[in-house]
Amino acid sequence: MNWKKSHILFQKACKLIPGGVNSPVRAFKAVGGNPIFVERAAGAKIYDVDGNAYIDYVLSWGPLILGHAHPKVVNSLKRAVEKGTSYGAPTRLEIELAQLVLRAYPSMDKVRMVNSGTEATMSAIRVARGFTGRDKIIKFEGCYHGHADGLLVKAGSGATTFGVPDSPGVPKSYAKNTITLPFNDAAALKAMVTREWKSLACVIIEPVVGNIGCVLPRPGFLETLRKITKKYGIVLVFDEVMTGFRVAYGGAQAHYGIKPDMTCLGKIIGGGLPVGAYGGKKEIMSGVSPEGPVYQAGTLSGNPLAMTAGIETLKILSKKGTYEKLEKRASALERGLTDAARSAGVKTRFYRAGSMFCCYFTDTDVVDYRTAKTSDTARFSRFFTAMLKRGINIAPSQFEAGFISLAHTEKDIEKTVRAAYKSLKEIR
Ligand code: PMP
Repeated sequence: MNWKKSHILFQKACKLIPGGVNSPVRAFKAVGGNPIFVERAAGAKIYDVDGNAYIDYVLSWGPLILGHAHPKVVNSLKRAVEKGTSYGAPTRLEIELAQLVLRAYPSMDKVRMVNSGTEATMSAIRVARGFTGRDKIIKFEGCYHGHADGLLVKAGSGATTFGVPDSPGVPKSYAKNTITLPFNDAAALKAMVTREWKSLACVIIEPVVGNIGCVLPRPGFLETLRKITKKYGIVLVFDEVMTGFRVAYGGAQAHYGIKPDMTCLGKIIGGGLPVGAYGGKKEIMSGVSPEGPVYQAGTLSGNPLAMTAGIETLKILSKKGTYEKLEKRASALERGLTDAARSAGVKTRFYRAGSMFCCYFTDTDVVDYRTAKTSDTARFSRFFTAMLKRGINIAPSQFEAGFISLAHTEKDIEKTVRAAYKSLKEIR
């Protein structure tokens, strides 16, 4: 594969943009080599500036569950853009997307649109603090909730990939209000909550941890979390920025049957445009300005283009059979990759929640941050490059989830499995 034009563009970008990228994991720092520069994308494929094609399992890090440039989304956007790109005044579109979201997430009575997942979690925490009058929060090691100061403590995603889960620049006075616990450890959770509840505003959690790969909750863990937060009047915030409309139409909360007090969304609900959202029970959300005193605002929030892409995406997703199709493709990939690893003689652990997944290079069960870190990242890097050379694009870090879209065909999955077998043999 020839990557000449990408390399030239990356050198240019590095002179102008920190690390040459506008979000850290896009650089191939963890896996070596230079990032590919994308020219265009359609369906399950992306095409780089050198004319190479790849089957894409990054899908813009989750949002593109319909695949790239879905014709219906593109056409609605074309019509929408003719009417203006932003008004700074309310539209019908905001009502329509809010209705779609609230119908799918009965735990939420009201929802506020923002522009990113980071804004959603940051705002939800402020609202939870305003509601309870308490300052401290609990988060779990390896969970990534965006890059707001108090949340960059033992964080996943790029923070884990680059070994800086606690970012410089976050004042100690902020970080001291963030308590971190190991994911899936009900005993540690109980002990901390019983000791600290008087100062605890909320517990925020990725119900399936996508930011250290794909770590599933142990049976009973989320139930314990729900029970204990309820008992002590602590707001339970499900960060479903990644899992929302992904592991099921109703998110992880529908899949596991747990009703949080607040929910954060992003990615899929923007259909590939910049959107986030947070919502929850009426009594909590009535604290948000201008209904209540907790301030939160946004020049471009509820943007008509973003709302349009989100509405179109959710409408298509809500059709019968979509999640069955995703499940079929995802389970075929799971079977294929697991068999390929076994045949190639490489020890792996594969985890999946619906159409999000991760394959770790370890023979330890991955249940939290510590066990995720047992993965052989050097081997992952070699695997990544071997797959890219064969036209398969996976995230350039062990600690990210992979995604499947409705545009992935059986053939795409078969091709991926064949490439994986060859790559695994090569890196063994
Ligand atoms: N929460 C979760 C669970 C996420 O996966 C992400 C992004 N990957 C965020 C929050 C932050 O979202 P954004 O990048 O849109 O700010």
